[in-house]
Amino acid sequence: MDFGTSVSKLPFVGPVYARRLNRLGIKTIKDLLYYFPYRYDDFRKVSKIRGLKPGATLTIRGRVLSIKNEYTKKGKVLQNATVEDETGKLDVVWFNQRFLVRTIKEGTVLSLSGKIDWFGKKLVLQSPEYEILKDLHSETIHTGRLVPVYSETARLSSKWLRNRIKQILPQVKIAEFLPNEILGKFSLPKLEKALCDIHFPNTPEDQKTARERFAFEELFLIHLSVLGRKKDWSAKRAFQKITIPGEITAEFISKLSYELTGAQRRSIKELSEDLSKTTPMNRLLEGDVGSGKTVVAAIGAFTAFKNGLQTAIMAPTQILATQHYHTLKNLLESYDVKIELIISGSPTTSEVKRTSHLRGVKPDVIVGTHALLHTRAKSLLDKLALVVIDEQHKFGVEQRAKLLGNSESFPHLLTMTATPIPRTIALTLYGDLDLSVLDEMPPGRMKITTWLVPQQKREGAYNWIREQILKGSQAFIVCPIIEESEHETMQTVKAATVEFERLKKVVFPELKLGLLHGRLKAKEKDEVVNKFRAGEYQILVSTPVVEVGIDIPNTTIMVIEAADRFGLAQLHQLRGRVGRGEKKSYCLLFTESKSEKVLGRVKAMEEAKTGPELAELDLRLRGPGEIFGTAQHGFPEMRVASFSDLPLIHKTREAAEMIFPKLDQYRTLASHLKTHLVVPN
Ligand code: ADP
Ligand code: MG
Repeated sequence: MDFGTSVSKLPFVGPVYARRLNRLGIKTIKDLLYYFPYRYDDFRKVSKIRGLKPGATLTIRGRVLSIKNEYTKKGKVLQNATVEDETGKLDVVWFNQRFLVRTIKEGTVLSLSGKIDWFGKKLVLQSPEYEILKDLHSETIHTGRLVPVYSETARLSSKWLRNRIKQILPQVKIAEFLPNEILGKFSLPKLEKALCDIHFPNTPEDQKTARERFAFEELFLIHLSVLGRKKDWSAKRAFQKITIPGEITAEFISKLSYELTGAQRRSIKELSEDLSKTTPMNRLLEGDVGSGKTVVAAIGAFTAFKNGLQTAIMAPTQILATQHYHTLKNLLESYDVKIELIISGSPTTSEVKRTSHLRGVKPDVIVGTHALLHTRAKSLLDKLALVVIDEQHKFGVEQRAKLLGNSESFPHLLTMTATPIPRTIALTLYGDLDLSVLDEMPPGRMKITTWLVPQQKREGAYNWIREQILKGSQAFIVCPIIEESEHETMQTVKAATVEFERLKKVVFPELKLGLLHGRLKAKEKDEVVNKFRAGEYQILVSTPVVEVGIDIPNTTIMVIEAADRFGLAQLHQLRGRVGRGEKKSYCLLFTESKSEKVLGRVKAMEEAKTGPELAELDLRLRGPGEIFGTAQHGFPEMRVASFSDLPLIHKTREAAEMIFPKLDQYRTLASHLKTHLVVPN
């Protein structure tokens, strides 16, 4: 039996239990042993029966003198037992466990852990954990020690898990994969001991030391795989170096209708340097909503164009792709750059027809959704030298790989995100990327006043919105995600439709409302957005999925329903859809939650927090998965370590850098990395 053995091979694990384990993601022995307890009951204090005091939590061992069910007047059933050791007798009571009398019999030797308290006039051990022993000296698992408690889901009890784990621990071949020099240098326990101690520690200190090892291990493995990814990337050859004389870029910039921010200039410089190398660029451009990432990408595309090369720009939604298309057209068309938009299955659909002058001509820039991945679209890209992916975390690893292709030479890659990436995460998961940050907003953006609106003020808020709209403003109303899923589910669309009808008929009958969701056809979506842009709709009701990235300056009000279901950084991004014009903008957050904690979290939006601050806050409050929303790909779930533990992140990074260059000397580690891939490539 080793880590790779399937749990279905274990004694006492039939198909039913195997399925329950699978539902928790436990498929192999390794998964099971790495299913760690979340707390421990301290039942270490073992006492004799004589002299017991009320209030104490402890363990006694004894023989059962009697046990029976007793029925109360109210129809409840108690299990009354008397247990005896060499010092005296003790009454034990359980509630509503009538089957107990079948498992525990007169004469059974028991270990019992629980609390001694008054029951009527008697001192009684109440609802203790019990464990049947062979004899008075047998080892205990569920009582009389630090007892691991597992989160009990998928109908697996802690007791059941404890039994299985206790049973297999001595039988599994546990191969240490951390190098000895690492264990020594950082004083970490060996894997076998750590696994024993995290499940069945003798002392809280042992448990803590074991946990430290696993936290170290998690981050260390992430660093190692990221270093591997970085090495793989740097071994690639760029399709072509892309350079243009600085004056040409400078001239392009001087013709823009605005001054670039310092951060934009810096990012453009970093981008240009990368493009001029023989190793393909792998750069992430991070900047808050509205910080002006598109123009940076446009300059990349312009540079490629000047070299006779092509650029592909992929965005996660049709609306965003269309918007990019128009922006790039504005920025680039006067230079004779040919731009194509591809947003559905084949490059012969509507949008391509509209750019009919391109028929028969290969475009210099193709903007699109994942439709770009279709072969016919790709056949247009034989000189693809730069790939830009907007909102990169919305795409799967495979999609990205498909766009980049797998020929010997590789396009340069620029990914962009509005999600602020906490420093600790940039250091770990994104450790292989070069980062450019737009930490400076274009001048003239106004602060968006944000309110968390209590339920009883909903009517008042609607009245206020009506007034604002009658004065000429426009509003977004974002409906909640009903089912968490990568794609917008029917449930979510339905809920938005119901809310739309309610708003239209009951709340704002005198106003014009549009509805936008992911199930509309591309044409219908365009129509809705265009009508809203033209002011024919005053309110745009939408699901959260399609709405990302839309840029309509006259919209000054953003309403977000069920705000608690979003991460703070996501709320910040949604809010960033307004406040783009001259007028003062507002964000109204609704929630039905009554939890102080939840309300407190959402209320953080009221203070003028920046995206990065909110992301850090969310990282602490809810963990990393939430920062990137529900559609995040490839985010490893950490069991023990925390993405906020900066000192450990540094320490493990140091360790990984020490080991990585000689990784092939560590066979167990290398094969462990391969079989237990922590970060997808
Ligand atoms: P995002 O980073 O969210 O993708 P965009 O690239 O869509 O931001 O830019 C948002 C808006 O700001 C656009 O209308 C763009 O023309 C404008 N913009 C970009 N850079 C500047 C700048 N330096 N000064 C003024 N406006 C700018
Ligand atoms: Mg953008």
